[in-house]
Amino acid sequence: MVVKKFGGTSVKDDIAILRVIDICKSEKLNSVVVVSAFSGVTNSLVELFESAKANNTTRASTIIEELRSRHIMTAQKLKCSEETIELINTTLTQLHLILDALVIIREFTQRSNAVFLATGEILSSLIIADAFFQSGIIAKHIDSRELIYTEEKFVDAEVDILKTREITQKQISKAFSQSNIKICVCGGFIASTLSGQTSTLGRGGSDYTAALIAEACKAERLEIWTDVDGILTSDPRKVPNTKLIKEISYDEAAELAFYGAKVLHPKTIYPAVEAEIPVFVLNSFNPKNTGTKIIPHTIWKNRIKAIAFRENVTVINVSSSRMLGTYGFLANVFDVFKKHQIPIDLVATSEVSISMTVDNGPLLDAAIKELEKFSNVEIFLEKAIISAVGDGIRNESGIAARFFGALTGINISMISFGASEVNLSIIVDSVDIKKAVNMLHTEFFTDDIDNEIFVNLGQQ
Ligand code: ASP
Ligand code: MG
Repeated sequence: MVVKKFGGTSVKDDIAILRVIDICKSEKLNSVVVVSAFSGVTNSLVELFESAKANNTTRASTIIEELRSRHIMTAQKLKCSEETIELINTTLTQLHLILDALVIIREFTQRSNAVFLATGEILSSLIIADAFFQSGIIAKHIDSRELIYTEEKFVDAEVDILKTREITQKQISKAFSQSNIKICVCGGFIASTLSGQTSTLGRGGSDYTAALIAEACKAERLEIWTDVDGILTSDPRKVPNTKLIKEISYDEAAELAFYGAKVLHPKTIYPAVEAEIPVFVLNSFNPKNTGTKIIPHTIWKNRIKAIAFRENVTVINVSSSRMLGTYGFLANVFDVFKKHQIPIDLVATSEVSISMTVDNGPLLDAAIKELEKFSNVEIFLEKAIISAVGDGIRNESGIAARFFGALTGINISMISFGASEVNLSIIVDSVDIKKAVNMLHTEFFTDDIDNEIFVNLGQQ
């Protein structure tokens, strides 16, 4: 079997949902279709709960009625049954009753928050399962709260992997053993606690639901359908002529996620990757594209796959003449960051100083004051990290020379290379970012791009 997950924009309205049905129709294998809430719905539910908390019941009622009309309108356009329309109505009427009760007793706990947040996927999965049926495909709706189990924390809950694996495996194989069932539709993101209360995974958690199901059922592949063609060689908002990367390793994808490639968070697909299930990122608005395949290890090594960057970075230089020949200085510096819970990204050291990058943030001032008690601190704002990402580039001679050779005229204030197999990173001034990223992208992705790994968009 296969697992296909469709994100919020891929199911945003009736036309998008019909596209989803078309994509699933052409699948030969049994499929579990995991869907997100319609785009924007989870955000509305967050606002709904906040409005109730702030006693703004007028706003809360408006949000519920907007959700009602959007879901009913979509269901009607998809020719869903009266029963489905009724279910949408009762679900939202009940939510309104719960909301009124919570306002009276002021019970704004995470447990009640999860009940609100879960509504988006409860509704989208019901509507989409019925839409399959209306287009002639019998799809079984399975409430994911009967598949995915979490600890007794209701929002951003930790999954009980063993129980989830056992029950999901049983339920899904039972569903497919019914002779006419080839498709099961489940909502992403929603789960139950072990005691049977509704809980939710973190935001964007539908990918995680899909990966858990794929792992439990030993799926042949996991497809993450979204609204972009896959993972690209750079950010198309800054770089013209970015290419689609056909195949990427899990480590490379994780590295790109740090640099803000928003396509998917590799942590969420980890269960599938660990089980060696290939993961494909695909575009439901352009289903002919081949997408990006993510696998544990790729044979396309020792070459740069992408030029990524991260903006709004602060560089902190900490020096102390006392560091010379002593020990423990680095530990003391890192302790300060640990205490203030500030992640450090890149580090370079010399005998008497250490240079680090962190994201700009409100916690920084207190940490700097503390560092100043035992060292000299210099702060450089408005910096950016640029990183060339590719498995094994550390072992390939000539890459660093090409990389630095391409950056004529750009001031590089720090270099980090060798710590990981996967990246070569530098710090530049924010003003130089676009120019520098383009210089690198042109150097590595213009003449000799390998058609086995990269695709010119528009050429598929
Ligand atoms: N609907 C949830 C969210 O927007 C989960 C998801 O879409 O993955 O965060
Ligand atoms: Mg979403």
